[in-house]
Amino acid sequence: MPQRDYYKILGVAKDAKAGEIKKSYRERAKRFHPDANNGSKKSENQFKVLSEAYSILSDARKRKEYDRRRSQKGPSRGRSSQGWGSQGDDRWGYGFGDYESQGHRQEGPFHQTAAEDPQPHDPNAPTRGYDLQFMVDVEFVTVALGGTIPYAYEKYVRCENCESTGESDGKTCEECGGRRQVVREASLDVKIPPGVADKYVLRIQGEGGEGINDGPPGDLYLKICTLPHPVFKRKKSDVWVEVPISPELAEKGGNIDIQTLDSMTSIEVEECTLTGEELRIPGKGASILWGKKRGDLIIKFVITDS
Ligand SMILES: [Zn+2]
Repeated sequence: MPQRDYYKILGVAKDAKAGEIKKSYRERAKRFHPDANNGSKKSENQFKVLSEAYSILSDARKRKEYDRRRSQKGPSRGRSSQGWGSQGDDRWGYGFGDYESQGHRQEGPFHQTAAEDPQPHDPNAPTRGYDLQFMVDVEFVTVALGGTIPYAYEKYVRCENCESTGESDGKTCEECGGRRQVVREASLDVKIPPGVADKYVLRIQGEGGEGINDGPPGDLYLKICTLPHPVFKRKKSDVWVEVPISPELAEKGGNIDIQTLDSMTSIEVEECTLTGEELRIPGKGASILWGKKRGDLIIKFVITDS
């Protein structure tokens, strides 16, 4: 569940309009751009968090989902403790204010970048581009079986107006304000590995911000957030589904067609089936270990009232 207050990070009200969000993002992006802060690690982290907040709140669908999850915080936690849904990873869950007071509290892939941190002192030295981290909502079935999703985001790229020098006609470049880079929309097709765990972080090499002075680009990190499915639930590679059956079918037995993750299948209901009885269909669950083998689909029968 998202823990960060993206509204606070962007400094806008909960009901802010798209234009206000964009304006505030632009202002803050300038302020936190590491070039404007002597390449400080803190501002780089703040910049990443800001990018993440903007990627959610600037997308109407993601924003709605974010608001919905925030308003449901209580019940969703209860569910995760039973093993459904998210695995309680709050590594990305610190608010902006926390960053300022706790410094480098963030763990994980970004430790690596500290060692490769560009030298801010020499403006002509090759400088590595920024790593970017975003959360991306992915459909349940795509996460369970793998697939490709289109993904759009914003990143810093070379300013063409000043040819990345920061100056044009002897004056500070108006396009980039002297930062030598500008924000542009980027898009790519992201391959979701089959059966990947919820909250898994994909590293997409070289798709972060562009480098300066021929420095290498940064990387893009995408944290996969599985969208809840109306009927399926997943635990590792097994998938559960409740199938309602009529009292007549439960009593006399017979066949019924059910939807699995990727097909329709006819299953047999035994005589005298009770509510809560399970039927396991091997090989119809989620992919195992990113491979072709699959876990099981477990059907739980629920006898309807009428
Ligand atoms: Zn420029």
